[in-house]
Amino acid sequence: MNVGLRKFPYPYRAALAISSDVDNTPDTTTYFAMLDYLNGTGSTPFGRGLGLEVGNSFWFFNGTGGRQVSYFDSDGRETDFAAPCRELWQSGHIDTLHSYGNFDTGGFTRQHAEKGVAALQAHGANIPVWVNHGNEHNSQNVGPHRPFHGGQPDSPAYHMDLTREAGLRYYWIGRLTHILGQDARRRFGITTKRWLQELVRLLRYRNIDRAFYDFSNRLILPATLQDGATVWDFQRWVNAWGEVTELDAVDLAVQLRPRNIAALIRNAGFLIIYTHMTENLPAARGLPDGLEAGLKNLKRAHDEGRLLVATSGRLLRYRELSQFVDYQATATDGGTLITIAPRLRAPVGDLALEPSDLNGLTFHVDDPDRVEVTFGGKVLATATNPPDETGRPSISIPWVALEYPRA
Ligand SMILES: [Zn+2]
Repeated sequence: MNVGLRKFPYPYRAALAISSDVDNTPDTTTYFAMLDYLNGTGSTPFGRGLGLEVGNSFWFFNGTGGRQVSYFDSDGRETDFAAPCRELWQSGHIDTLHSYGNFDTGGFTRQHAEKGVAALQAHGANIPVWVNHGNEHNSQNVGPHRPFHGGQPDSPAYHMDLTREAGLRYYWIGRLTHILGQDARRRFGITTKRWLQELVRLLRYRNIDRAFYDFSNRLILPATLQDGATVWDFQRWVNAWGEVTELDAVDLAVQLRPRNIAALIRNAGFLIIYTHMTENLPAARGLPDGLEAGLKNLKRAHDEGRLLVATSGRLLRYRELSQFVDYQATATDGGTLITIAPRLRAPVGDLALEPSDLNGLTFHVDDPDRVEVTFGGKVLATATNPPDETGRPSISIPWVALEYPRA
């Protein structure tokens, strides 16, 4: 009996998510037109839907005088964004809180977090991902560093108790990377770039008080906040060195160049791409050059089983699961029984697993036809897979794509 976890859901050899910040989206129409284009299959202002799986982030509040897409208006009433936003909370396509709102001119208090969390709870929404926003006036931001007060219990901006309780588990506290693939194979290019990143940090950024590169190149790593609680901190990829500056849709086309995607697959890594895909992008003007080709190349890589493309929330959950899932393999009459434990024990605390969390979990085994996988006393539906690039056959809980509820 020889059982081990495969790094990615079968048959994929790498995994990617696009993590987009909502900043300066022209209006609600553009926001949803982009999601329809990426996830749907009907006609949209950007072209026929691609049928990919790409999530998005949102704000509850806009604390500035400027125009921004947010769930509540300045009087605390729901905007035209709220109802369609809720539909995509439920489907899992809006899975990221880009902090509670845009407070680039200050003004955040714990009451904002209370109102946001109450809306999530009233609608049974599960938002797993938090992404810090903007300048130091956003006191709500989270992280062990000085400008961030979201986790500081004696600050009027303290909200982490509420935010954790609402189910947010993965926090982007500013960590960037130039390496094409985290938790990747240690190829020469990756090892060199790890050293270079470290050198740049020491020489150029040594006086800046915030998270930088992770020398171990992990997708997720534990971070302990001022209130003593530990959360998952994750990295986002910006570029292969200096070639993009705005991180908008124009730059997304550069980030998604086929040679970058090919390198990610070769490196067998996880990648979360950092973008603002609808920043100043009026739907009427259409997509920047090269973006559609880049997205279609992603879709092909996914359909051909080379690259898993999923929302950030699902990619992060899969990465956590594949590192910390607890299972036992026992010999039965002529076969093997794999029993998955109901709780995941991770450095940031336990997680009670739902069957949907097990999506994609794949075990290398000698004879997949004689293996059963159980969870919570029930035998799970599994697929048996022929030998992969390692030469070993496997059994998997199939990866099920999210269903997009809009046309
Ligand atoms: Zn932002």
